Amino acid sequence: EAKKQGGNSYFFYQNTLSEQISTRLTLENYLKDAIANQELYLVFQPQVNIITGQVEGLEALLRWEHPILGNITPATFIPIAEENHLIEELTNWVLQQSLQVLKKLHQHYHHLCMAVNVSARGFTASDPLDRRISHLLTEYELSGCYLALEVTERFFMENTARSAEMMANLRKQGIRIAIDDFGTGFSSLTYLADLPIDTLKIDRSFTKDLDTDSRKKGIMSGIVAIARSLKIQCIAEGVESQTQLIQLSSLGCHQYQGFLFSKPVKVEHLPAILEPDYRQLRGTEAGEHGSRKDR
Ligand code: C2E
Ligand code: MG
Ligand code: MG
Ligand code: MG
Repeated sequence: EAKKQGGNSYFFYQNTLSEQISTRLTLENYLKDAIANQELYLVFQPQVNIITGQVEGLEALLRWEHPILGNITPATFIPIAEENHLIEELTNWVLQQSLQVLKKLHQHYHHLCMAVNVSARGFTASDPLDRRISHLLTEYELSGCYLALEVTERFFMENTARSAEMMANLRKQGIRIAIDDFGTGFSSLTYLADLPIDTLKIDRSFTKDLDTDSRKKGIMSGIVAIARSLKIQCIAEGVESQTQLIQLSSLGCHQYQGFLFSKPVKVEHLPAILEPDYRQLRGTEAGEHGSRKDR
């Protein structure tokens, strides 16, 4: 049986194999009803311009709160969904919900973009991602230029035949493609050479020791230089300290994301975060669902 630890995450490694299997099957069964039972919701984390301090985009991150099990992290349930056809339904749901939120936010914040994580799995020839997205953009009367898809290298590895064509179709609609967790895969540079990528999201592991580990800083500096020379955007993930931010700024990184500015928050807390004076008030002590009034 899965054990609750640290408040909101489940760890499987403490259990026997048969326990792990039955937990997985249980989660899989619960996950099938999660959308219908309204157990899923999105949280949003700002993507901030390093020079101006402006929030330019939001990354939508999926959350699952089961009535008995509590919060189950995406690191646990996304892989389960990927092994079934559940991932298609989840991706559709996330795209639909996040574009609906974006449409509302555009009433006050016209420039905002939405970034959505897209799994490598769950593309069928009969219902391709590019077509699904173009229907949603039409439904919400949104230009594709406000949408970025975050994919990992696995996306290209597992959709080799289709990914080039699909990406071309997506980019024709103005949609941007970001490589997530950049630097952690094996052949990122090959994809950079061959595919039209718009953004590199530099993995949190490089940001983490930026101020203490000169090798990490060297790698970060190199990635930013590659991005700049290819004229593509780069975002540093997992920025938690002012020192890291200053380093990134001196390297010429465009945007950052991380607990320093804000943890991912529920939609009702977004307006406070999007106010221009928020950055003076930002702190690291707020919880994931914290808002300014909680500070
Ligand atoms: P990711 O796309 O690389 O998302 C970044 C993760 O880092 C998020 O964890 C976020 O909460 C966390 N994070 C952000 N800033 C900081 C920071 O300053 N410090 C630290 N320590 N962590 C930070 P989360 O939300 O648990 O998501 C984990 C992964 O699950 C995501 O990695 C993504 O691969 C996947 N995921 C989340 N939502 C979705 C979704 O809707 N669809 C798909 N396919 N995958 C998703
Ligand atoms: Mg992401
Ligand atoms: Mg990432
Ligand atoms: Mg990551």
